Amino acid sequence: MIHRISSAFWCLLCLLSVAGAEPLRVSTFSTVLTEIATEVGGTAVKVHGHVGPGVDPHGFEPRLGDLRVLERADVVLLSAKGLEAGYARKLREAAGRAALLVEVGAGFPSLRLPDEQRPGATVEDPHWWHSIANMRRATKIVRDAMSSLRPAERAGFDANAERYLGELESLENWARKKISVLPRSARKLVTSHDAFQYFARDYGFTIYAIEGVSASEEPSSAKVAGIIAMIRAQGVKAVFPEQMENPRVLREIVRESGAKLGGVLYADGLGEGGTYSGMFRHNVTELVEALK
Ligand SMILES: [Zn+2]
Repeated sequence: MIHRISSAFWCLLCLLSVAGAEPLRVSTFSTVLTEIATEVGGTAVKVHGHVGPGVDPHGFEPRLGDLRVLERADVVLLSAKGLEAGYARKLREAAGRAALLVEVGAGFPSLRLPDEQRPGATVEDPHWWHSIANMRRATKIVRDAMSSLRPAERAGFDANAERYLGELESLENWARKKISVLPRSARKLVTSHDAFQYFARDYGFTIYAIEGVSASEEPSSAKVAGIIAMIRAQGVKAVFPEQMENPRVLREIVRESGAKLGGVLYADGLGEGGTYSGMFRHNVTELVEALK
C-alpha cells in the first residue's frame, strides 16, 4: 500500500517535470478579466474566476473559499476604478505575500460618475470594458504581468495576446460599421444603470441613465418624469433593460413616453457561457436594431 502511494507520487512528480513549471495561478474578479487571463495565459495558467457569469459585481462579497484560493494565487487581477472598493483590502490581506496584485483598470484613464452617497461629488466609472480600446489596453497589462512572473513563457503570452488583440480589432471594425447606420441624432441611450459611458464616448451616444452606478436605489419620481419628457421631446425610439435588473421603472417609462422596450443589454459582465465578443455584438445589435 505504502509502496503504491509512493510510486504514484513519483510518477506525478515526473509528469510535472516533463510538463515544465506548474501553471501560473491567476485569480480574477470579473468575467471579462477571466476571459482576458484565459486567452492570454493559455495552457501556462490556471484561472480561477471568483465572480461568475450572471453575478452582479457591484454586490459581490468574497467568501472564505475565495480568500483561501487567494492565499495560493500567483497573480490577482482586479478591474479597479472602484469596482472592488468594498473588499479590495480584504483581498490584499488574504493574498499571499508573493502574489502580484494587478489593478488592471488603473492603467488607463477614467470617466467619472455622480457619487450616490455624496451629492455634488463624483466617483470613477468602473465599467471600462464597454470600450474596446480599454480592452486592448487591459490585454497588454495582463500579458506584461504574466511575462514578468514567467519570463520563460513570454513568447507564448505574446503570441496569445497578439491573436486576442486581433480579435478585438476585428470586433471594433465590425461595431463601427454597424453603428455607422445610426444618425448622430438617434444615438441616445436610455438604460437602467449608468454602465455605458465608455461605450457612449467611443461611439458618440448620449446617455440617460435612470439609476446610478450600481442600480441599487430607486430613482426619484422627478427623475423618471424628466426622462419621460426628454424621450417625448427628442423622439427617442427605444429604451433598454439590462440583464440582472428589475425593469419595473423602465416599463413605466415605456408606458408613459411612447418609446418601445429594446432588447436586454449586458452591462456588468458576461452571461453563462458567454464571451466578450458575444456580449459586445449582442449589445450593439440590439441598440442599432431598436434605434435605427
Ligand atoms: Zn454596473
